[in-house]
Amino acid sequence: MTAEPLSDDLRTLYQEIILDHGKHPRNFRVVQHHTCKAQGNNPMCGDRVTVTAKVDGGAIADIAFEGKGCAISIASASMMTEALKGQPPETARKLADAVKDICTGKAASPEMEPHLEKLAALSGVRQFPVRVKCATLPWQALLSCLDNGPSATTEK
Ligand code: ZN
Repeated sequence: MTAEPLSDDLRTLYQEIILDHGKHPRNFRVVQHHTCKAQGNNPMCGDRVTVTAKVDGGAIADIAFEGKGCAISIASASMMTEALKGQPPETARKLADAVKDICTGKAASPEMEPHLEKLAALSGVRQFPVRVKCATLPWQALLSCLDNGPSATTEK
């Protein structure tokens, strides 16, 4: 994945994907019997997401999110849940780093490229630096979710 400027066609395609996920978010719910939970806030834009996941047998058996925010933050969370279901937590962590890379115009690690195919639309935010936080917010929440572990379910 390169950091070249996006063509008009690609920009239009990326916008359509973001709008679709923003309007019809996938996995917008709370995971039943989740093993971890974390919240992310982006005060710059007013985005708030709560990620819940169930890690079972070394894989993310289920992952979902709830929240309020701009189309980019919601789309990013929606795409994240689709990309990570069934993946080992280790891959999820690496993918979170890779998404940050593509959102800030850096090249992501080649190892992650197959996973990034469906997330490429998020790289469109690199042309709008103030929106980078919107796109990376759900992924940061995911990282805290995985770090929190089961203890987070006892919270409040
Ligand atoms: Zn936002």
